[in-house]
Amino acid sequence: MTKLRLAIVGAGPAGIYAADIALKAERDFDISIDLFEHLPAPYGLVRYGVAPDHPRIKGIIGALREVLDRGDIRLFGNVEYGVDITMDDLKKHYNAVIFSTGATKDVPMDIPGIDLGGSYGAADFVSWYDGHPDVPRTWPLTASSVAVLGNGNVALDAARMLAKHADDLLVTEIPDNVYQGLKASPVTDVHVFGRRGPAQAKFSPLELRELGELRDVDMIVYDEDFVIDPASQALIDSNKQVFVLNKVMNEWRTRETGKASRRLHLHFYANPLELVSDADGNVAALRYERTAPDGNGNGGVVGTGEIREVEIQAFYRAIGYYSSPLKDVPFDAVKGVIPNREGQVIDEAGQQIPGVYATGWIKRGPVGLIGHTKSDAMETIAHVLGDHSTWWTPENPEEGSIVDLMESRGIEYTTAEGWTKLDEYEQKLGEPEGRARIKVVDRETMLKVSLS
Ligand SMILES: Cc1cc2nc3c(=O)[nH]c(=O)nc-3n(C[C@H](O)[C@H](O)[C@H](O)COP(=O)(O)OP(=O)(O)OC[C@H]3O[C@@H](n4cnc5c(N)ncnc54)[C@H](O)[C@@H]3O)c2cc1C
Repeated sequence: MTKLRLAIVGAGPAGIYAADIALKAERDFDISIDLFEHLPAPYGLVRYGVAPDHPRIKGIIGALREVLDRGDIRLFGNVEYGVDITMDDLKKHYNAVIFSTGATKDVPMDIPGIDLGGSYGAADFVSWYDGHPDVPRTWPLTASSVAVLGNGNVALDAARMLAKHADDLLVTEIPDNVYQGLKASPVTDVHVFGRRGPAQAKFSPLELRELGELRDVDMIVYDEDFVIDPASQALIDSNKQVFVLNKVMNEWRTRETGKASRRLHLHFYANPLELVSDADGNVAALRYERTAPDGNGNGGVVGTGEIREVEIQAFYRAIGYYSSPLKDVPFDAVKGVIPNREGQVIDEAGQQIPGVYATGWIKRGPVGLIGHTKSDAMETIAHVLGDHSTWWTPENPEEGSIVDLMESRGIEYTTAEGWTKLDEYEQKLGEPEGRARIKVVDRETMLKVSLS
C-alpha cells in the first residue's frame, strides 16, 4: 500500500479539519483526499449556523479556506451522499470514508399544540436568516410577542435575531430577503424560557452580555428567579462561567427599563406544558408551570403546581439539533449519531465496520463549539491511519475515475476554485453598500457563479 485514498463526506469544520490533520500526520504512505459536500459552498454550520452578526466566528472560514486552498484536497460540492454517490461507489474508489455530515434539524418536541401555526424549530429559523439555499426565502415574522424555549446559545441567537432591529444587521452579510423580513417584523417582546434556574443556563458569557448591548431593546429579568438555592450558589462560587453569567444578569436587574421599543425577557424555572390555540389553529399563548429547585444539589427542578400563561403569536423551540441518518450507514436514533468508538463506526453488535469512520457532530452529537471538532478529527484520523490493515481495496483508486463517474451521472459538482469565485462575487455584491459581503442564497445562482 503506497497511498490512502480517503473520502470525506461533509465539508463543515469537522470534515475540513480531518482532511488537514490527515495530511499533516506522520506516516509512511501518501494520502489523497476527496471532500464531498451536499451544498455548493463548503463550511457547514460556520456558514449556515453561526449568526451573521458574529463576524469574528464567521471569520473561521478564513482558516478553513486556507486548508482548501493549499491544493492537496479536492472539494466536490453540490454532491449529496446517498443520492449522487453511494457507499458502493465509495468502496470502488477509496480505501476508507469519514462521515462528517453534522446536524441540521431540530430535535422534536412533544407538548400539546406543538404543531399549531406559529410553532417553529429554531434550526429552521437559523437556516432562513443565514441564507441556506434549501429553505424557503420568506419567514412569517408577524408576531408581536414571541417565546423562545431553550437555555443555550442557539436560543440566544434566535432571540437576538428576533429582537434586534434589522437596520443594525445591515453591516453583516445578511441577504436582502432576510433584511426585508426582519425589517417588517412587528415584534415588541421576545421571551426566552428555561426549565431550570439562572445558574444552570448553558449560555456563553459573551453571547449573553451581547444581549444587553442591543440598541433600543430592554433586557428584562425577574427578581423571583434570583432567589438562589444553596446548590446554585455553590455553582456560582465555584464555576467562573456561571459566576460571570449571573453577574451580567444581576446587573440587568438594576438597570432602568421602559424606554426601549422592544423587550427581551429571560424567564427561568418555567416548564412548558402546552401551546394554547386561537380559533384559527395558531399559537395564542404558552402555558407553563413554575418550577423550583428539587433540593438534590444537582440543579434539577420540580413542578410547583403554579400554572402561568404568556400571550404569544409565535413559539420557537431551541432545545437542540438532530442529525439525519445516512444510507447504508448505521444510525443511533436515540442519540442522533452514527454509532462509533472514537470515530470507528460500529455495527449493532458493537463490531467495527472496516473502512467507515465518523467525526464532528455526527460522531459526538450536536453539542460543542467549532474548536471541538478539531480534537474530534484528531482522534478519528489516528484510527483511520492506524487501521491500515483493514482498509477497503478499491477497484478504481485512480483519482480520475471518481470524476469520470460523477460526470457520467451528470452531477454538476463545484470545486474550491468555484468557491473562490462565489466568495469574490459575494464580496462584490457588498461593495456598493460598504459591506464585507452579501450572501447569495439561491442554489442556482451559487452554481452559476461557482461553475462560471
Ligand atoms: C445556530 C448555531 C450557531 C452556532 N454558533 C457557533 C458559534 O458562534 N461559535 C462556535 O464555535 N460554534 C458555533 N456553533 C457550533 C458549530 O457550528 C459546530 O460545532 C460545527 O459546525 C460542527 O461541525 P460539523 O462539521 O460536525 O458539522 P456541520 O458544520 O453541520 O457540517 C456538516 C456538513 O456536512 C454536509 N452534509 C450533510 N449531509 C450530507 C450528505 N448526505 N452528503 C454530503 N454532505 C452532507 C452539510 O451540508 C454540512 O456542510 C453553532 C451551531 C449552531 C447550530
